[in-house]
Amino acid sequence: MTKLPTKGRKNIVYLLIAGLIFGAVYMTFFAGEDLSKTQDVEITTIQTEYRKGTLQKIVIDGNQVIATLKDGSKLIAFKGVGETTKDLGFDSPEQVSLEYKDTEGDKFWTELLLSIIPFLLIIGFLFLMMRSVAGANRNAMSFGTSTARSYDKSKHKVNFSDVAGTESAKQELIEVVDFLKSPKKYLKMGAKIPKGVLLIGPPGTGKTLLARAVAGEANVPFFSISGSEFVEMFVGVGASRVRDLFKKARKNSPCIIFIDEIDAVGRHRGAGLGGGHDEREQTLNQILNEMDGFETGTNVIVVAATNRPDVLDPALLRPGRFDRRVVVDMPDIKERHAILKVHARNKPFDKKVDLEKVARHTPGFAGADLENILNESAILAARCNKHKISQQDLEQSIEKVMMGPEKKSRVLSDKEKEIIAYHEIGHALTGFVLTNTDPVHKISIISRGQALGVTWFLPEKDEMLTSKSKFLDEIVSYLGGYASEKLVFGEITTGASNDLERASKMARAMVTKYGMGELGPVVFGEHHGNIFLGKDLVHERNYSEQTAKLIDDEVSNIISKALDISGSILKKNRKGLDKIAKELLKKEVLNEDDIKKLFVGLKR
Ligand code: ADP
Ligand code: MG
Ligand code: ZN
Repeated sequence: MTKLPTKGRKNIVYLLIAGLIFGAVYMTFFAGEDLSKTQDVEITTIQTEYRKGTLQKIVIDGNQVIATLKDGSKLIAFKGVGETTKDLGFDSPEQVSLEYKDTEGDKFWTELLLSIIPFLLIIGFLFLMMRSVAGANRNAMSFGTSTARSYDKSKHKVNFSDVAGTESAKQELIEVVDFLKSPKKYLKMGAKIPKGVLLIGPPGTGKTLLARAVAGEANVPFFSISGSEFVEMFVGVGASRVRDLFKKARKNSPCIIFIDEIDAVGRHRGAGLGGGHDEREQTLNQILNEMDGFETGTNVIVVAATNRPDVLDPALLRPGRFDRRVVVDMPDIKERHAILKVHARNKPFDKKVDLEKVARHTPGFAGADLENILNESAILAARCNKHKISQQDLEQSIEKVMMGPEKKSRVLSDKEKEIIAYHEIGHALTGFVLTNTDPVHKISIISRGQALGVTWFLPEKDEMLTSKSKFLDEIVSYLGGYASEKLVFGEITTGASNDLERASKMARAMVTKYGMGELGPVVFGEHHGNIFLGKDLVHERNYSEQTAKLIDDEVSNIISKALDISGSILKKNRKGLDKIAKELLKKEVLNEDDIKKLFVGLKR
């Protein structure tokens, strides 16, 4: 069959349907005799006319008798079933022309058409529907085949040089590249080539990117699939997709299978409540099976990525499967600088731009966030029709990415503005005079995202350990907003709720997790770095009611002491507080230089 373009074919189907409908309507209404000048009569009238000899023609059409008079008018009557022309008395054929109209044939065709049309219409619709379904999902009939995308090597080439930082992870993966490139070297020594590499790290740290870089470096095909793609509506689909994926991979060996977000299928089996994880278990079992089934020398390496290693089934982690674990950590300041440099390669920057400063101002940002900042700054510069991206564009993008876009349209009363200003300075001032908190970077009372105002502290360097005194000072500074509102206005607003929550959480963690309270170095309760449904709901408190009371007392003790310190600091510096508030209300934003000038002379 020649294939017309889709549009043409559709039009033909429409035309056909329209034609059929028209034909049917025409046949029912207009076909047959022109009956316009006719008169319905009794059969006896026709018989009388016949005897009178005024008839010209008689047509017998089934049970209908149509008589044409000599003047051209017509009479129609019905005869009894089975009555012949003789019975009716039309027995001298020479008088009139007697005709038998064989309408049975005509009728047959009309009826046939009428009975076929609905079917044709239904079939037409079905045809159209099927086609649109098939268009939306060409694999509608092939659930079981894997949806893995394979990257064209030449087009999507990513190398290790595109991945900045993450040196230790790269070091481990270079080995993997070597396995893929020259497996013989290892096999000769009797070494087993690892089958699986698990990349572990928070989202956006470049796990997917690293996996692609491995494929790019080794110059082998790369099959990528996301764990969630295995989980489908039908049980068993995931498993058959796995089978298909591994079959494809074996055919293309040496190659890399990349399973992104493997935690979607690789969760601890039997965890979770109420069962119902059949599908996931089957899929996981199939993955384990396939990995076990690699013959030596298959040279397919499975790379998987997850940000939830704690929920993975232990069977995935045992030797012979994902026994290589590569941790991809959040980048430190040097690594952030390197990542910024990689993504700055194709953007025009002002000469004064200092990417190191950007790196310093972005603690806790992953590679994806940094890329986002550079992109935002480029958009910002383009929107202002600039030719180069400036440092200011970058700073603005950091704020936007961190706290959401400015909401200048949010209308606040003067009173509310004043409360927000005093609240923020409460944080900043207490934070400034305490020794263990990070330096104050910026204070703003411009609404951004959820926040009405913000005080921005920036660490001087990335810290891995936090001391007890830092926790205590930070709690004081968290409560600074609350203390300031109370001191200045004699009342508290809802604006402090988030601060209180953070302060309480921190105080509770000090007591129950870090052993920094009076109760000593004991951990109370089980602390999961990551919470997930299955484990969390069956989580048990492993201490007594009495201890619970002690913990609560201890927490509220820390909080109330911190609040006292906060209040006394603000009271002591009341003059400074008012002066800074006035300035902040005028300018809406105080940056590092303003803060240096305004905050001198404040004391504990
Ligand atoms: P993950 O898979 O860990 O969630 P991705 O690999 O998808 O993160 O990273 C998202 C994007 O962030 C990448 O496409 C890349 O542009 C950028 N990125 C993340 N980490 C790095 C890095 N170390 N070097 C360069 N770019 C990075
Ligand atoms: Mg990813
Ligand atoms: Zn606050």
